[in-house]
Amino acid sequence: MKDVTTHPAFRNTARSFARIYDLKRSPEHIDAMSYEENGKRYSTWYLLPRTKDDLRKRSEAHRRVAEWSYGLLGRSQDHVSTFVSGMRMMPEMFEEGRKGFGDNLVSYYEHMRDNDIFACYLVITPQSARDPEIYKRQTSRNAALQVVAEDDKGIYLSGIKMLGTSAVFSDEAWIGNILPLAPEQKALSITCSVKMNAPGLQIWVRKSYEQHSISKIDNYFSSQFDETDAVLVMDRTFVPWERVFVMDNAQLSRDIYFKTPAHIMGNHQSMTRFAEKLKLVNGVAHKAAELSGVGHMLPVQQTLGRLMAGEAGLLGMIAGQVEQPETLPNGYMHVNRRFLYAALHWTSNHYAEIAEKVREMLSAGPFQIPADASVFEDAELAAIYEANWSAIGAGASDRFKFIKMSWDLLGSDYAGRHTQYERFYGGPPFLNDMYNYTWAPWAERRAVIDQILADMELPKPLATAAE
Ligand SMILES: Cc1cc2nc3c(=O)[nH]c(=O)nc-3n(C[C@H](O)[C@H](O)[C@H](O)COP(=O)(O)OP(=O)(O)OC[C@H]3O[C@@H](n4cnc5c(N)ncnc54)[C@H](O)[C@@H]3O)c2cc1C
Repeated sequence: MKDVTTHPAFRNTARSFARIYDLKRSPEHIDAMSYEENGKRYSTWYLLPRTKDDLRKRSEAHRRVAEWSYGLLGRSQDHVSTFVSGMRMMPEMFEEGRKGFGDNLVSYYEHMRDNDIFACYLVITPQSARDPEIYKRQTSRNAALQVVAEDDKGIYLSGIKMLGTSAVFSDEAWIGNILPLAPEQKALSITCSVKMNAPGLQIWVRKSYEQHSISKIDNYFSSQFDETDAVLVMDRTFVPWERVFVMDNAQLSRDIYFKTPAHIMGNHQSMTRFAEKLKLVNGVAHKAAELSGVGHMLPVQQTLGRLMAGEAGLLGMIAGQVEQPETLPNGYMHVNRRFLYAALHWTSNHYAEIAEKVREMLSAGPFQIPADASVFEDAELAAIYEANWSAIGAGASDRFKFIKMSWDLLGSDYAGRHTQYERFYGGPPFLNDMYNYTWAPWAERRAVIDQILADMELPKPLATAAE
């Protein structure tokens, strides 16, 4: 496969990504979606925030990208670029690993910003590399991506890395580690950027839902918003030294995400994106109630109310991340860490339940309509369908379109991938709990408890009869 813009598995989604670039540059959006620095214009997701207004501008840019793709493109152009911008806010961390790696990070940020690079990232090692004991006992090389040679020009990588959402559409891949590595696994800590057309690099992509979609009417979302997921396989793939950011340092390879604002800034994009998807899902819920003629019933309104409470709660958490920001000693400002992790926890734990609730509202609808839109090509069949399938609140053809669109979003193979995505894209859910534990102000909470305990004076022992 040479060209994603023509291949039937990718071409429509490639257009959806291209549309984001087009809209971003349109007169209507250019002010919000870009900023000027030293006479040049760059995408807003490269803006290094120093004020609340900068954070608001960044957040609104994420929101617009997500609105243009209904929140269905998780790894849109503003995701990895935001991670790299977050690291650029503390480049000195990279110098702790090796002198010059901080400069590499700064120049990579500038390269991405100046060329509006679309990058994916793969920050998970394969399961075979996870257990340090098994890792130690392995006699042949572990399958996990690692440096197999180096010379004065750069390094050579071999092995596999997971999981590159949007990889087939990207210019470059960020390679790293977001899960903890054991100290002896330092060979796996390589953190660098690789060009997607580098010799020796293969992209092993999962089944394309776009390719299996029938038409835009039958599969409105999967036919044009299938960002794909892929494993990268490398065989002595060359990376020049200037694109290497961490090497031989297991701890640092993880710290760069959590001790810089990278993880929280990147996941602010994810929360904003999720909120746009939630709006879409809630819209489906309301219309489904209307089509079934049950929208006036109190229990149904209660369900809809609960869905909207979740949406409003998330929007509040997103606003809180921006309106109660935190400032680094060097003056850069980032979103509120705790509010971000609370939102990440909520979204990864609730999408499946929300999707299921709304799917329940579609009831047997998806199984009562004709197999595909070709029924409308036959005048006689179309007339029978129109005459018999009308429902309260919608004609038969509107009902066809709505049900097809809703099932694509909530019941299809594509929908199942989205449920899995929302649960796992930010790492395993138990880690989201741990972020909330780690960053909690426990000392403050304990101080109140200690104060109350100090205030509760126990009675003195009563004097005994002998005394
Ligand atoms: C659709 C999709 C897109 C993704 N996109 C990307 C991407 O763009 N870039 C990227 O780098 N990664 C991506 N990921 C990968 C994601 O980061 C991982 O799925 C996630 O980190 C979990 O790792 P794993 O899948 O290897 O599961 P494992 O780590 O093998 O876990 C298997 C199961 O065991 C549970 N588990 C494991 N350890 C524990 C424990 N100690 N306590 C309790 N439960 C535990 C997990 O929660 C999970 O349910 C994506 C994942 C999905 C599903």
